[in-house]
Parts: sequence; structure tokens; C-alpha cells
Amino acid sequence: MLAATLGRCPACRRGSAFRGPYAVAEFCPVCGVRFERDPGSWLGAAVIAYTIAIVVVAVVGGLAIGRRGLFVGLEWWLVGTALATVLLVYRPVKGWWLWVMWAAGWIHRDREDPERRS
Ligand SMILES: [Zn+2]
Repeated sequence: MLAATLGRCPACRRGSAFRGPYAVAEFCPVCGVRFERDPGSWLGAAVIAYTIAIVVVAVVGGLAIGRRGLFVGLEWWLVGTALATVLLVYRPVKGWWLWVMWAAGWIHRDREDPERRS
């Protein structure tokens, strides 16, 4: 799980699971596991990242309002906090989500695909 969260293939832990900052590779370059099976695969990761951002914004907003009250520019602090949080957590959350899908058996090598056997 830790290796996947850090961007490694959950199956072999050696190949990189990402081909860009946020884009997941189609296959593991080492073991050949196919990562992307469905265009909607990453919805869970997006929901988790946004949920984390909402919690962080609520905490930062609560602390800011508690210290200074409502002030001009608070909304930009909160928008910036939300954007920074999503940018920081989306990749590790996506890697963790990749591990969840692998652990559930949704990510595997093509030759192990039961649909191709029939
Ligand atoms: Zn691999």
C-alpha cells in the first residue's frame, strides 16, 4: 500500500504507476499490469481528494476566523487552501486508490482477464 501511495506499481512495487504528475500509466513497465481499465476508475480518488480538501479548508477557515474574525480576502485564502490541498494530495490518493483497485482484483495483467478467457 505504501509503495502504491508513493507512485509505484501495487503488484511488483518496482515499476512507476505514473507517466506524469497526475496521469497514471496504461501499463506497469516492469510487470505489465494494466492500470487503467475503465475511464471512471479515478472517480473514487477524486472524491477522496476533494473530501480531504473540504476538511482542510474547514480547519483552516475555522482557525483563521477564530483568530481574526471575518476579514477581506478570507475567501481567497480558502480557495488557495483548497487548490493547494487537492494538488498536494491527488497523486498520493490516486496511488492509494490504485492499490485499492489492485487489492480488489480490478487491476491485473491482461492474460489474467477472465473476460478474455471466455
Ligand atoms: Zn508492476
